[in-house]
Amino acid sequence: MSTHAPAPLLVIDGHTDYVLSLLETGRSFLEESSVGHVDLPRARRGGIGAMLTAIFVRNEHLPQRALLQTLRGVDLLKRTVAASNGQMELVTSYLHLLGCLERDVFGAILHYEGAEAIDPEFALLRLSYELGLRSLGLVWSRPNIFAEGVGPENRNRGLTGLGKQLVRECNRLGILIDVSHLNDAGFWDVLETSERPIVASHSNARALCHVDRNLTDDQIRALAQNGGLMGINFHVGFLVEGATSGADVSLSALVDHIDHIAGLVGVDHVALGSDFDGATMPEQLRDAAHLGNLIEELQRRGYDDQAIAKICRDNWLRVLQAVWRE
Ligand SMILES: [Zn+2]
Repeated sequence: MSTHAPAPLLVIDGHTDYVLSLLETGRSFLEESSVGHVDLPRARRGGIGAMLTAIFVRNEHLPQRALLQTLRGVDLLKRTVAASNGQMELVTSYLHLLGCLERDVFGAILHYEGAEAIDPEFALLRLSYELGLRSLGLVWSRPNIFAEGVGPENRNRGLTGLGKQLVRECNRLGILIDVSHLNDAGFWDVLETSERPIVASHSNARALCHVDRNLTDDQIRALAQNGGLMGINFHVGFLVEGATSGADVSLSALVDHIDHIAGLVGVDHVALGSDFDGATMPEQLRDAAHLGNLIEELQRRGYDDQAIAKICRDNWLRVLQAVWRE
């Protein structure tokens, strides 16, 4: 099967939180809004063809309402797709993703940001697969029965026995494993356990910005060795240590992270994972419609068309093809 995707370049964004924004504000993804960072019109203006679409459950709903809140998000996404008049589809296979890019239909890929909705017997994982789940972060920045995140409760314990079983079950089903938000011990456990490439969907280089959400150079090398990728997170505080506002961070600081990772492991292992609607964006990337500014900055910094296509689309295509069952 070929990985050749069609021109013109439509970007694959590896992490966005728009479902949470839709649930909490009541706005529609299908209409342009001044709220949040992304909706369909702004995504299209930014040249975005597909997004890994996170379902996130806030602490206040744990543990009892984790499943209900997750299903509310999935339901909202499915209703949005149904109301889109064919402008949007829920992507469930590699060929389906290529088809969306070819037909210029926006592809939403279902991701759970934290496995709190999954039971120890994995019945809810398998049923979630039937609903369209194709990517899973074992944790957000908090502990659960599978692993521990990088938040204040982090004691740097690795995966639990159940966590390792969950990785194997995801491998078997063809669900991508995402290590963003996982602590360092958990990262190494996932890498040792997974037989498929893994991703850090929205994390940057810790060598340039020393926060736990970013990866060390050793982790980046190991991730690349395993065939995976990192999606560069646009969040200002993960690009520049201590940054809190969009005015604090330039696009060149973001491309510095891409340069660092490409310098370590090559351009095949760095991609995009904006964190739109879940973080604070640099002024020049203040919403999805401004993504062209990043592509211009990459060109200015000497990346050729092929390298830009890899970063913006093809690396995601390669990893998803390697992990998904179909
Ligand atoms: Zn996140």
